[in-house]
Amino acid sequence: MASPSIGIIGAGGTISSLASDPRDYLDYPETGRKLSVEEVLERLPELDAFADLVPIGFRSVGSSAIGPSDWLRLHQAITTAVRHNPAIAGFVILHGTATLEETAYFLSLTLPATLPVVVVGAQRPLNTVSSDAAANAINAVRVAADPASYGRGVMVVMNDEIHAARDATKGSTYRLHAFHSAANGPIGFADPDRVVFRFPAHPPTSEEPAFDVDGMTELPRVDIAYSYAGCDGAAVEAFRAAGAAGIVSAAFAPGIPAPLEREALCEAARAGTVIVQSSRVGQGRVARRGWLDAQGWVAAGDLSPVKARILLSLALRQTTDIGRIQDFFDRY
Ligand code: GLU
Repeated sequence: MASPSIGIIGAGGTISSLASDPRDYLDYPETGRKLSVEEVLERLPELDAFADLVPIGFRSVGSSAIGPSDWLRLHQAITTAVRHNPAIAGFVILHGTATLEETAYFLSLTLPATLPVVVVGAQRPLNTVSSDAAANAINAVRVAADPASYGRGVMVVMNDEIHAARDATKGSTYRLHAFHSAANGPIGFADPDRVVFRFPAHPPTSEEPAFDVDGMTELPRVDIAYSYAGCDGAAVEAFRAAGAAGIVSAAFAPGIPAPLEREALCEAARAGTVIVQSSRVGQGRVARRGWLDAQGWVAAGDLSPVKARILLSLALRQTTDIGRIQDFFDRY
């Protein structure tokens, strides 16, 4: 049987990094070099065993430099590649781990769920002792090429685990097991014998993505206000002054900002800024309690602040109606 054709996109990150010393797990962001996707493929010929790989250059940067305009261009790179080469069965994106979960969630909202896209990173540069780059890249290609991935949309593969884009989060600075999906757990595993999913894919009901971003070059500004004991409204006021169309409050669990911060958020809401209430703790839902409804704030459910910011930004391209925005949060 012919190998499936998989597009492999180079966005940089540790997985595409060469350290200047095989023991350098620390200083390589500043002292090392980022490889192009072609250079990564030259160093990892093992990947060819699992798919017919189509390299697609994007950016060779640390992912702290990736932002919304990159997401829109990445989306465009994927849709253009599919249009030009309809045989491509899925994609792997080599990406830094810092913003990996944000890129993955954005793509999950803007690409059809029928298309398997695996976003993969590494914790140790490609040429260091015991690097996880090769193993993670191999697993990513295996998952993207596996027929059971059809209909699962965007996934994150790290350390033999497969995570849903919506749930995946980086939870450790240096451990190889850096990503987790909190209480939801991984959706599957790249085991040595085969790729295993814990449950069947829901058959995609539509080829249409949740949000159509075709032709968009920018997203509305949305900022995140992080609560800490005693914080005031200075950050919220600065975000408003910078032109934020929305603010996500990453508040004390179960979703209550500090008093002065809350006042500033109420003021912002009255002036037309859309406020989404999330929590800073990483687990559990922010429920739609009466106070939020009365203020006209949106409840983020269990979406993390960084992902709530992405969903709000996409929602604001369509509407400023709080009821409709809350529907998006209840659905995605
Ligand atoms: N793993 C990080 C990233 O997100 C650090 C690598 C770097 O900044 O060069 O890309």
